[in-house]
Amino acid sequence: MTHDELLEKIKRQIDYCYEFRFYREMFDRVGIKPQDVKSIDDFWNVPFTTRKDLVDAFKAHSPFGGFFSKDVVRINFTPVPGIGFMPQLFTKHDLQSRAKSVSSWLRAIGVTEDDIVQNTFAYTFYPAGSMFHDAVEEMGAKIIPMGPGNTEEQVRVMNEYGVTVLASNPSFALHIGQAGGKGIRVLAAGGEPFSSIEGYRSRVKEAFGGEIVAADYYGLAEVGRVAAECRNETGLHVFEDFVHVEIIDPESAQPLPDGERGEIVVTSLDKEAFPILRFRTSDLSTIIHFPCVCGKERTLPKGVFGRTDECHKAKGVKLYPSQIAFIFAGFPGLSYKEFQVILTKGPLGADRFTIRVKGAPNAVDRDRLIAKLKKELRIAPDDLEIVEDLKTGPRVIDERF
Ligand SMILES: [Zn+2]
Repeated sequence: MTHDELLEKIKRQIDYCYEFRFYREMFDRVGIKPQDVKSIDDFWNVPFTTRKDLVDAFKAHSPFGGFFSKDVVRINFTPVPGIGFMPQLFTKHDLQSRAKSVSSWLRAIGVTEDDIVQNTFAYTFYPAGSMFHDAVEEMGAKIIPMGPGNTEEQVRVMNEYGVTVLASNPSFALHIGQAGGKGIRVLAAGGEPFSSIEGYRSRVKEAFGGEIVAADYYGLAEVGRVAAECRNETGLHVFEDFVHVEIIDPESAQPLPDGERGEIVVTSLDKEAFPILRFRTSDLSTIIHFPCVCGKERTLPKGVFGRTDECHKAKGVKLYPSQIAFIFAGFPGLSYKEFQVILTKGPLGADRFTIRVKGAPNAVDRDRLIAKLKKELRIAPDDLEIVEDLKTGPRVIDERF
């Protein structure tokens, strides 16, 4: 998409959103009007939408937050702290547009009309099951609407009916493969961290004999589809027909250049019911432009690899503790849940950064782990302690001040 096309889409979406009380009030609070946005730089003045803003709107204008309209044809839900469940609304256009772009993605990962797709995402209440279902039907492939759970039955159906494509959480796919499911060429994985955990994709592929495409998908309850990998597994390409993605510094809220770690901010470009403007996801990622052989460019090369809720500075570098969990998850023998970050001052006043993690000290290649931490965190720990027992406590102990 060219710069001008993107600007046009953004302006149209802002005009459209301004019709909703939620956005009109938000614009009024900061004193700007839709016509004030004349360039992408102006777009950076448009206020962010946070999860709290949405919760407040759904509380104040129960039950649909002021986003309901007569054109809505489907209501799904997502669990949200504070209000129990948040409705996700779709018009006929939203469902058709979603089916079209998700089916293009399925083609991009190698699915054809001849494939039989086993869909293990939930059909009731939540949106993921019907999202895959509609897309598979749209492209003319064959779908088995299994829904989640019951590994034994999933394996039986997969093997008995010649299933060639599995749509599943990666952890459930691994279970199905390890329990004897076989014959698939393609895994469409979503709903959990996948490509951001080193080695995880290979483990899942191995469970199905190794030679499969296993593509990662990233979507959000509040927004819908955001990015997904093609069959080349080169990172998650943004669904540019549907969303505009920015990466911002979570502290200053300023946009960051390509390749910098920061918070993903998403604007929907083609959503009628419950549209989203500059939604702060709290998800940590980077974005790059690179020409993939599939023709796509804007890419989250490593997907989502942490949360931006908690950010500490050590030696002048931003440290996101949740990013460490993603790194540890790629090292069997370490716990990715039980670890602590300890920040202290050294004798000369410089920051000292220690990581203490529960694990089996002899089961881990320390040098490889430290190199990985340094590469991903942009800062190496001064000390890495792998301990067999770790007392529960805060994730970050900051003793510097
Ligand atoms: Zn590609």
